[in-house]
Amino acid sequence: MYSWSNAIKTRKRSSKNFTPTAFKKVAVIGAGYIGVELAEAFKRNGKEVVLIDCAPTCLSGYYDRDFTDHMSDVLEKNGVQLAFGERVTKIAGKSRVEKIITDKKEYAVDMAVLAVGFQPNAKLGEEHLERFRNGAYRVNRQQRTNLPDVYAIGDCATVFDNAIGEVNYIALASNAVRSGIVAAVNACGGHMETEGVQGSNGISIWGYNMVSTGLTLEKARRYGMDVCSADFEDYQKPQFMKHNESVKIRIVYRRDNRVIVGAQMASRYDMSMGIHLFSLAIQERVTIDRLKLLDLFFLPHFNQPYNYITMAALGAE
Ligand SMILES: Cc1cc2nc3c(=O)[nH]c(=O)nc-3n(C[C@H](O)[C@H](O)[C@H](O)COP(=O)(O)OP(=O)(O)OC[C@H]3O[C@@H](n4cnc5c(N)ncnc54)[C@H](O)[C@@H]3O)c2cc1C
Repeated sequence: MYSWSNAIKTRKRSSKNFTPTAFKKVAVIGAGYIGVELAEAFKRNGKEVVLIDCAPTCLSGYYDRDFTDHMSDVLEKNGVQLAFGERVTKIAGKSRVEKIITDKKEYAVDMAVLAVGFQPNAKLGEEHLERFRNGAYRVNRQQRTNLPDVYAIGDCATVFDNAIGEVNYIALASNAVRSGIVAAVNACGGHMETEGVQGSNGISIWGYNMVSTGLTLEKARRYGMDVCSADFEDYQKPQFMKHNESVKIRIVYRRDNRVIVGAQMASRYDMSMGIHLFSLAIQERVTIDRLKLLDLFFLPHFNQPYNYITMAALGAE
């Protein structure tokens, strides 16, 4: 079976023979953001790709199945082999990777990329600093740790998650830069508190764009929330406009107080800026009903008089 240390020694000895163009088939293990983006990049560079994930779909942390199924179609239509619902148990080979073994099948490959997540780098000072359940430094809304003169920012620190109203861990560059601003102001004697975050994110694969913020239906239910969704799909612009694409939207809101806790959008049109409205809605605890008559401008070049945001909100339970 494969031994990492032997493989590294062998690779060092034979590195002259190994060039990035030498491999033909790659297994990308983990179909989160990085895995899906890598699958596209390898495929665009002429490699055969199998994308493996133990979840039943790709991007399962950020979108509901109705959305991820579309992304799976895009990947498949562009030649990526999908192996979802399979747990990798072994990476096998003699002197280099030869196959990936899952609990269901085996895949002959000559390269593997592990994109299965990471742990925050928070060992430094661990004996003094309070940490979150995944080991990240636990910080307050001013980015202070439990020691008054020690701040933590970026991927090593917790965030305040507005969608669940609690401390959480969401590693993103966007969160990192904001946490840096907050810590810098406080460390320099000013006073600033984070607004909290929603984990807003986006991905674009072969021109298919998906953006989301806050919680999916599935995730909200896992947090024990009684939620429902307002869904709509329509063209971005009036149908007399030449260049037009359909847009799919889901707004997730609580049944008890009707506060919005998440939103997802998908389209070949660049509708990405629309998700910022929902990020603010979650931050400010806006109800789905407040969106029904919200003043959204209309110009045929951009959208419809009753666009999909209005229509989804009007259709809410
Ligand atoms: C492939 C990939 C793609 C990504 N794409 C996106 C994206 O599109 N959008 C997005 O929002 N986020 C994205 N992210 C996440 C984003 O990169 C991170 O959230 C962000 O870089 C975190 O910034 P940071 O400064 O906390 O950590 P890092 O950028 O990891 O910087 C930490 C630095 O600390 C140094 N360091 C570590 N330990 C020590 C020590 N003991 N002493 C001194 N220095 C030390 C490291 O060398 C490193 O330079 C992506 C991440 C990856 C891996």
